[in-house]
Amino acid sequence: MEITTIKATVIKTNNYLVSEGKTCVLVDCSMPKADLEKALNGNKLSAILLTHGHWDHFLTVEKIGNTYNVPIYCTKECYAKIIASKDSTLKVARKVNINTDNLNFRFIKNNDVLNFGKLSFKVFSSRGHTDCGVCYLIEDRLFTGDTLFRGTYGRTDLPTGDLAATITTLRRLSKLHHNLIVLPGHGATTSIGAEQSMINSVLAGTKDFVDSEEDCWC
Ligand SMILES: [Zn+2]
Repeated sequence: MEITTIKATVIKTNNYLVSEGKTCVLVDCSMPKADLEKALNGNKLSAILLTHGHWDHFLTVEKIGNTYNVPIYCTKECYAKIIASKDSTLKVARKVNINTDNLNFRFIKNNDVLNFGKLSFKVFSSRGHTDCGVCYLIEDRLFTGDTLFRGTYGRTDLPTGDLAATITTLRRLSKLHHNLIVLPGHGATTSIGAEQSMINSVLAGTKDFVDSEEDCWC
């Protein structure tokens, strides 16, 4: 498996192209089409996976989705934000006019497994930064969007942000394997182990909980 980071022009959001042989899957979609084409190097794009519904993570999804005619995976709540961004209802910093008429959206939920050729992604619901966030796990890599960054976690003061939900998500993250490499939506790569002390400091004094079957990462 190979992973190529493709930076978006705006805010330098990290988009990731995950490849195995000729199968390629894009995690988040805000880079220019030419940069994706270059990274694909003649291979076929199989799918787009969105981490959450903030404009800097889906800015070019209409162009890329229509050009490559591939399914776009995200949560229902993420889709609602993409639609709403046309009139800035959710006031997520910028109005983005995405026409979804010809796009093939497929809704995902916690613990879904998405298979493309030999690539297999597990979906973990990671609410907190938004109500629509997910992380994608493949082998020893975790794509965290704006849920977890190197040294910090995603802000919770934007619409649908929720600090209590972030604490629950951080607790689940802290129980994952420490060697897991974290590929965030902004900034440098890190690992679960490297973020453990930051996570512990956030969790200090908060109550542990028993995961419900529906919400656990299993
Ligand atoms: Zn975000």
